[in-house]
Amino acid sequence: MLLTPGPTAVPEFVRTAMSNETLHHRTPEFEAIFANTRQLLLEILDMPEAVMLASSGTGAMEACVINLTHQKALTVNAGKFGQRFGKICEAHNIEYTELVHDWNVPATVEEITSMIKADDKIDAIFIQVCESAGGLRHPVEQIAKAVKAINPAISIIADGITAVGVEKIDTTNIDALITGSQKALMLPPGLSMIGFSNDAVAKITKKPAGYYLNLLSEIKKQKDNTTAYTAATTLIIGLGEILAKIKEIGFEKLYEDTSKRAKSTRDALVSIGLEVYPATPANAMTTIYTEDSNAIRKTLKEKYDLNIAGGQDHLKGKILRINHMGLVNDYESSWAVNAIEKAMDDLGIRTFDGTANKVFMQGMF
Ligand SMILES: *Cc1c(COP(=O)(O)O)cnc(C)c1O
Repeated sequence: MLLTPGPTAVPEFVRTAMSNETLHHRTPEFEAIFANTRQLLLEILDMPEAVMLASSGTGAMEACVINLTHQKALTVNAGKFGQRFGKICEAHNIEYTELVHDWNVPATVEEITSMIKADDKIDAIFIQVCESAGGLRHPVEQIAKAVKAINPAISIIADGITAVGVEKIDTTNIDALITGSQKALMLPPGLSMIGFSNDAVAKITKKPAGYYLNLLSEIKKQKDNTTAYTAATTLIIGLGEILAKIKEIGFEKLYEDTSKRAKSTRDALVSIGLEVYPATPANAMTTIYTEDSNAIRKTLKEKYDLNIAGGQDHLKGKILRINHMGLVNDYESSWAVNAIEKAMDDLGIRTFDGTANKVFMQGMF
């Protein structure tokens, strides 16, 4: 059982849809599929414009950095993915300032607003909705609202790779919302998507940058249901399938189910003495801080057929991350908390009495 927070398992109906014969990307057949996928994408992102890029999520991050920073960037680094925005700025010699936090501490409205007040060169802010390194939810909507009240010309770029498809994101004050195929959208890796506000489109139009990642070329082409370069046809077919399925289930229903599953999982693990790592946990994953992370993960894999993620860098061997993204079945999460409790018994940490599963089920039903 795969419950890592990306890549997530690809549902069978999506794999089947993607196994059809390869379509040429410059044909009316593919353009019709593209148009349908694009409409669904605009709907889930809840933004007026969007593009799909043949790249992993980092490609979309880079495209946003180069096309939407015209002066100076402010990046929020509370984990590996936030740090990446800074590294992209460095690679392009783009001036930036970084707000650095521990991986379990969210950025605050006050910190960001005082930074932009102190430096009027900043014209773009880059932040994760969920920083996947620690499962941390930043208050992106509140930050975006406060920033726009001070200076509406500052672009807010939100990395929603582990948030789009997990929860409703209020895009009122967001200029670019990034997502990728292999996390909440349950597709194989290789496709990234960005939603844009009208202001973002105007800013990109004024000064586009890059060649392959030139967002103006893509926006122009994708309005006409085609792409500047060869489209990732198979993945776009898969994206259309998964978005249609999510729409059929109901976007709100999926968000509610995910939220309930995430909360029940956190409650279950806390009930057996484990500690939730982030101060403000995102619903994409449950992150537990434990010095026994390596031993627990090894036992889960060998004895209980469960694969969950650990941590990176200074959190290597210190955390457990359990996925809630995508169409996870309740019985999978139930098995996960139960297996963790069993593994803790096997390792002599705590005697098994079924508490985790009981608390999980009480939360779910
Ligand atoms: C996975 C992830 C990325 C990077 O995506 P790649 O597809 O590996 O390039 C960026 N941001 C967040 C929050 C992620 O979880």
